[in-house]
Amino acid sequence: MQIIKTVAAMNGYIREAIQSGKCIGYVPTMGYLHDGHLSLIKEARKNNDIVVVSIFVNPTQFGPNEDLDSYPRDLDRDAALCEVEGADVIFHPTPEEMYPNGYSTYVETFGEITKKLCGASREGHFRGVTTVLTKLFNIVRPRNAYFGQKDAQQVAVVEKMVRELNYDIHIVPCPIVREKDGLAMSSRNSYLQGHEREDALVLSQSLELAKQMIADGERSTAVIKQAMCDKINSVESTEIDYVEIVDAQELENVETLSGDTLIALAVKVGKPRLIDNVRLEVK
Ligand code: AMP
Repeated sequence: MQIIKTVAAMNGYIREAIQSGKCIGYVPTMGYLHDGHLSLIKEARKNNDIVVVSIFVNPTQFGPNEDLDSYPRDLDRDAALCEVEGADVIFHPTPEEMYPNGYSTYVETFGEITKKLCGASREGHFRGVTTVLTKLFNIVRPRNAYFGQKDAQQVAVVEKMVRELNYDIHIVPCPIVREKDGLAMSSRNSYLQGHEREDALVLSQSLELAKQMIADGERSTAVIKQAMCDKINSVESTEIDYVEIVDAQELENVETLSGDTLIALAVKVGKPRLIDNVRLEVK
């Protein structure tokens, strides 16, 4: 496995791979890898000749008061994990390599899809995501790109961007990987202190509650959201950013549940802001 740090070296590697007819699978990450990331690499390994993993903590998707500087990083550990999963290349550029002095080109998807949910509380976040992914797609030139459903809004935004910019890339959404007790795996879980790890279980539990209410016949999103908020607010260390129930394609609000539905939430538990969701077909 190679670790490549410059765009020029990646260009050379990818050009040769494509010339020799290789199918490239790509897993973009910000590193500090866990089993959620590794599930994407495993999926990519099944269906491609070459698997590229990028590890890049992308500054343009962090707001001014967010955790860019403290975001956990451990390249040696990440490289060992990628090697075990059979990745061929890690692309690990510096911020200066991706955004040299005077950098000025951005890609933005407009509309509800980027304004809602995380877009509402993290201004400029999706502009950073679509900009860096455009650059990374141009560098890696994948046939297939793998994304976790954990970031459901990101999947929806990327699918729309790829469609609208006519990228010949197949976006493969992969299921959320959870700890045994239900907590969705996240690099940011490492910020949880003491009892906050236990407290964070209320996120997945509130999603389970919503699923149960729907199974029992409830169809009012207001009633379900209220029950979820009450459950989350019963845990002292939590602070709700949003609890939303939207249609899973365009992320528009719905009053009465039906069809392809996304129940998504973002909650601060102590310091970290954690996200989780379920997607389900409501009959
Ligand atoms: P990140 O490093 O947080 O930017 O995540 C990189 C990719 O891994 C994204 O596509 C995430 O959705 C995905 N991912 C992160 N956590 C999980 C998880 N628990 N299960 C599945 N995929 C995940």
